Amino acid sequence: MSAPTALYSRFLASSAVSTDSRQPQNGTLFVALNGPNFRGRDFAPQALAKGARFAVVDDAALAASDPDRYTFAPDPLVALQELALEHRRQFTGPVLAITGSNGKTTTKELLHSVLSRRYRVQYTRGNLNNHIGVPLTLLSIRLQEHELAIVEMGANHQGEIALLCTLAEPTHGLITNMGKAHLEGFGGVEGVAKGKGEMWNYLANHTGTAFVNTADAQVAARAQVVPQRITYPAPTDQYPAELLSAAPHVVFRLFDGTHVEAQINGGYNFLNLAAAAAVGAHFGVPTADIAAALAGYAPDNNRSQLVRTAHNELVLDAYNANPSSMAAALASFAGRPGSAASKMVILGDMFELGTESHAEHHAIGEQLAGYGFGSVVLCGPEMAAARRPGFHHFPTKAEAAAWLQHNTPAGQQILVKGSRGMGLETLVELL
Ligand code: ATP
Ligand code: MG
Repeated sequence: MSAPTALYSRFLASSAVSTDSRQPQNGTLFVALNGPNFRGRDFAPQALAKGARFAVVDDAALAASDPDRYTFAPDPLVALQELALEHRRQFTGPVLAITGSNGKTTTKELLHSVLSRRYRVQYTRGNLNNHIGVPLTLLSIRLQEHELAIVEMGANHQGEIALLCTLAEPTHGLITNMGKAHLEGFGGVEGVAKGKGEMWNYLANHTGTAFVNTADAQVAARAQVVPQRITYPAPTDQYPAELLSAAPHVVFRLFDGTHVEAQINGGYNFLNLAAAAAVGAHFGVPTADIAAALAGYAPDNNRSQLVRTAHNELVLDAYNANPSSMAAALASFAGRPGSAASKMVILGDMFELGTESHAEHHAIGEQLAGYGFGSVVLCGPEMAAARRPGFHHFPTKAEAAAWLQHNTPAGQQILVKGSRGMGLETLVELL
């Protein structure tokens, strides 16, 4: 084993890695990343004054002014990534990477619940899944404590998953699905499949194990390159699972016949649950523990969350939206018990669709027209393409809010869903 780099020694002597000088800095290694509108080095003296032990800066003169505390790096982001890799290589437990168009965070949270029954697990906090978040997740692994790591990997263009795999060196990988998300950056659906498939290529080249969702034809077809495959959820797969009911909650049968009643809804979440069950079983978590962990998981993050207000029952899915997840959420909402007339949907723009945007929003309008929901409220400029007679459309969220104030629903089931930038969760107080 090669000797640790000087920066790694400083990392080991620090309490944690920090990239935000506004946060507490007791004993941290502060990495002064640059943003579009700021230079990290400007915040480094402040971080040290607040208690950071060391700082990594791209300013040679500043670094030379106090070499006991500063480390010079021409590109602090690269330094952070190299540090993460050096640390990851000290970790001998399994590293499970999760990517996919939809359901990464949900699956990651479910997996954490399942695997924690048997292992001490470190996992991505929140949605820290990009070229900065993945290194931070890796650096949060405590070598003396953790036995297994779960790393969420997000991407909106080609090459990103390949890069994240070279940092995390996953021993196991899971692709939730390959759908219509970030179409603009990936260059269409085929581009998404290729970009996500980079994880399969990595596993294929490094004798890794793939957890394969055979219900997604693209995922399964591309997984053929990986020799070691664990499959779910079809009856002929290693870990079959059967959806019994999608609403009001997902109820499903595990491989050994156990019935699980989850606290999340939607047929699509069945696949996230089945994925977590398959991984748990592969890692030797007893089925009873898997079932208890899955039944015990309740989201509190605006993802497929069921919320009862004084007047209505909400399916709060305001965290994000893209054509695949919007279509899945609408189908699942339509399938909930209750008449279509007593259902309302409040939908916001889907972002990052590039030239496909008009057509994809239009298609949502077609889908909506088929359901006959009692009330349809569309919000955002792109949603204009989904308009049909009887639908309400508002160019801005503020206008939709004003309308809702005067037309307050009661006794309704209401689906709320839109892209993150729309922030539709702020409408909840009106419902
Ligand atoms: P991000 O790209 O923002 O990290 P993500 O892949 O982590 O998203 P989640 O945050 O778990 O996904 O879920 C976001 C939304 O995607 C959910 O609220 C739900 O509407 C939808 N979704 C979750 N799982 C699936 C799935 N398997 N298929 C289709 N849509 C899904
Ligand atoms: Mg996520």
